Amino acid sequence: NRQIRLAHRPVGRPDESTWNLTEEPIPTPGDGEFVVTVDYVSLDPAMRGWLNDARSYVPPVGIGEVMRAHAVGRVLESHHPDYAVGEIVSGSFGVTEHALSDGTGVQKVDESIAPAPTWLGALGFPGLTAYFGLMDVGKLTEGDTVVISGAAGAVGSIAGQIAKAKGATVIGIAGGPEKCAWLTEELGFDAAIDYKNESVYKGLKAAAPKGIDVYFDNVGGEILDAALSRLRKGARVVLCGAISGYNATDPQPGPAHYLSLLVNRASMTGFIIFDYLDRYQEGIEALSELLTSGKMTAREQIEIGGVPAFGSTLNLLFDGANTGKLVLEVGER
Ligand code: NDP
Repeated sequence: NRQIRLAHRPVGRPDESTWNLTEEPIPTPGDGEFVVTVDYVSLDPAMRGWLNDARSYVPPVGIGEVMRAHAVGRVLESHHPDYAVGEIVSGSFGVTEHALSDGTGVQKVDESIAPAPTWLGALGFPGLTAYFGLMDVGKLTEGDTVVISGAAGAVGSIAGQIAKAKGATVIGIAGGPEKCAWLTEELGFDAAIDYKNESVYKGLKAAAPKGIDVYFDNVGGEILDAALSRLRKGARVVLCGAISGYNATDPQPGPAHYLSLLVNRASMTGFIIFDYLDRYQEGIEALSELLTSGKMTAREQIEIGGVPAFGSTLNLLFDGANTGKLVLEVGER
C-alpha cells in the first residue's frame, strides 16, 4: 500500500522533491469504516493551493500527510452498513493505493451511466463546477455570448458544452491548435482562440463583435484582462480559477480592465463547488442527461504509472499537457 506524502511546501512549481513515496500496510477497517482500493486519482489545479500554508476554503495539506485527492475505487473490506464489498465509490481518498473511510463525503458511482474515470471529470467536481458556475453564478441565458478560458480542460470543456446545449454562442480560449480544433470540430464551440499563438484581445473582437455576456474564467492574468475589456453591459464574470498565477513567485500585475466591471454594471463572483453540496444530485442528473443523450462528450486523459507517478502527472496540468479531465490510474481493474 503505497502513498504520496507532502515532503515540504514548494516555492513556485512543485517538483519531485515536493513529494515522498511511502509504504505502509493496508489499513484495517473498524466499526462503521471500510477500506477502498483506489483505481483512479483526480489531478486538480487546486492541489497547488492546498500545498501553501495559507488561509483558504480548506486547510492546507500538512507536511508528512498523504496528499489530498479525489479518487474512485472499489470497497475492499467493509464494516459499514451502507457500503458493501465490491461497490464503486468516489471520495477524498488521497494519493494512495488503499484508503480508510467512514463514508464522509463518499458518493456511489453508477457505472451504468458512465465509466469510473468520468465520475472524476464530467460527472464529478469539474462537471458540477462547470454546471453551477455557468447556470447559477453566470446566470446563463439563451442567446448569451459565452467565453471560457482553460476551455479544453476538465471544467472548461464541460462548461462550453453546457452553454452550447442551452443555446449560447460559445468561444473557447485554449493553448495550441489541437485543443482549439477539438473545441470547434468535436465539442461544437462556435470559435476557439489559441492564446499561445494569437492575440486573445483580437480573437475576442473577431469572434464576439458585440461583446461578452458571460466570461467563465479558469486562468486569470492577461487572458482575464483581455476578456474584461470586451464585456457587454450587464455581463457576468464567473471567477472559477486563476491557474496562470498558481505557481507564481512574484506578485502578479493586476488586470488593467477591472473597471470595466463598474462601467458595465457587471459583477464578478467567486464560488467554491462545495457550496452546492445539497444540489449535487440535481447537477448529476442534468449532466447525466446531456451525456447519455449524446449532447455532451466526456473525455478523460488517463495516465499510467500508479502512485509513484503522481508528481510528474500533476505537472501536466501546469504544462497544459492534458485535454479533458486528467486522471491517474492507480489500481488494475
Ligand atoms: P484543467 O483540466 O483545465 O487543467 C489545467 C489547464 O490550465 C491546462 O490544461 C492548461 O491548458 C491551462 N493552463 C495552465 N497554465 C496556464 C497559464 N499559465 N495560462 C493559461 N492557461 C493555463 O483543470 P480543471 O478543469 O480541473 O480546473 C480549471 C480551473 O478551475 C482551475 O483554475 C481550477 O482551480 C478551477 N476550479 C475551481 C473550482 C471551484 O470550486 N471554484 C472547482 C474545480 C476547479 P492550456 O493548454 O489551454 O493552457
